[in-house]
Amino acid sequence: MNKHDIGDTIAAISTPVGEGGIGIVRISGKDALEIADKIFFARDSLKPSSFRTYTTHYGLIKDKDEIIDEVILTVMRAPGSYTREDIVEINCHGGIVALRDVLDLVLEKGCRLADPGEFTKRAFLNGRIDLAQAEAVLDIIRAKTDSALKIGVEQLRGALSNSINKTRESLLDILTVLEANIDFPEEEIGRADLENISKKLREADGRLKCILENSKRARIFREGIHAVICGKPNVGKSSLLNALLKYERSIVTAIPGTTRDTIEEIIDIKGIPVRIVDTAGILEPRDLIEKKAIERSKRHIAQADIAIILFDGSRKLSREDEIIIKKLKGKPAIALINKMDLKQKIEREKISRRFVHTIDISAKKLRNIALLEDKITELVYKGKVAASEPAMVGNLRHIAAVRDAEKLIAQALSSLDNRLSPEFVAQDIKDALARLDELLGKRSSEDLLDKIFSEFCIGK
Ligand code: GDP
Repeated sequence: MNKHDIGDTIAAISTPVGEGGIGIVRISGKDALEIADKIFFARDSLKPSSFRTYTTHYGLIKDKDEIIDEVILTVMRAPGSYTREDIVEINCHGGIVALRDVLDLVLEKGCRLADPGEFTKRAFLNGRIDLAQAEAVLDIIRAKTDSALKIGVEQLRGALSNSINKTRESLLDILTVLEANIDFPEEEIGRADLENISKKLREADGRLKCILENSKRARIFREGIHAVICGKPNVGKSSLLNALLKYERSIVTAIPGTTRDTIEEIIDIKGIPVRIVDTAGILEPRDLIEKKAIERSKRHIAQADIAIILFDGSRKLSREDEIIIKKLKGKPAIALINKMDLKQKIEREKISRRFVHTIDISAKKLRNIALLEDKITELVYKGKVAASEPAMVGNLRHIAAVRDAEKLIAQALSSLDNRLSPEFVAQDIKDALARLDELLGKRSSEDLLDKIFSEFCIGK
């Protein structure tokens, strides 16, 4: 079957499998209404093919005389639907048996089970959304924090696509002028035209650079920052991790690590997913396993965006503390002087001399945990929360395309400045356009589409 064949009618369960109040079977395609007519029975005997678009109706789903479920059916007619095709959604009682039975019946009446992401793929193929927006649907489904959700929604509404489209249009304008000149080389490009081209290229370059800048922040929201907790044994690393988890009730995921060395959790701190790794803290390996643990924690420290180093405030600094401090050289770090509830013996000035950010806490008594969170977010935002700025893009595929296009435009600009022949400038602009077109899915290989849509769940 040709994957691009969208002539047939598809159906799937569109809500998560499991017990729930309601579950939805979605049908999309030219036969959706006809199929619904065969199985839906309303009290007034009216049939779905006579229902107006965006109306909902109460009735029974029956297989011959057997009642399968009592449902609410919604009709959305083409082109005013998610896929731009006729869509029928059947709200069933949420149990898996009812949903399966309704789906089986629908399939039996003449449609095919949808592939993963096929509804969204149809929305793309039918021109309702571009590829970047289709991918935003995936980001919305997967969003783990409010901020990640916000980025996905903005992208679905076209924040990224609009900016890319504007860039495309001005590149196309420039290309028209350049190509006229390539075709009629005896007419040199006028000074005004040249200035105009250069201005437009600079604008396009600036717009793409702005997207890339925003993407850095967006990626933090999507993927989180990587924080590593380190410190010698018994300073309170596990207590701190527990304190953060207790304090922030919104644990997103718990990744089970090996108990012997690292434990990793993702905590939502003010909308930023923070992956926290609690390292082993072993300094002198006694056996091979501990040696490996040390290597792993070294790797974690190297990969981390930020290190949180703990000191035991009730004791003097030790050689072990010094070793860990050395390991953190060059890493953004927050120093925590733990056990503030006990009598303090630590040489604070030595710590504050080395670490710009030092906070006293008690992991056990949950004191100043909020200060630590504030510090983490402050460092992420570099002191200013830019909530009003749209963070448009967080997807790696999009970032790569924008980055390539930006480089090509910069190259075109320098060719222009160096008075190279218009062919060179035009070629770079064409290449940049090609990358932007790929981003929006204006040219996309079957393989790429398959890859993107296979990441979706069935029913989306
Ligand atoms: P780790 O080896 O670094 O993971 O340290 P733990 O989190 O296991 O803590 C070691 C010991 O210090 C435990 O007995 C904790 O109860 C204790 N501890 C941790 N934080 C504090 C604190 O803020 N105050 C006090 N008094 N004890 C603490």
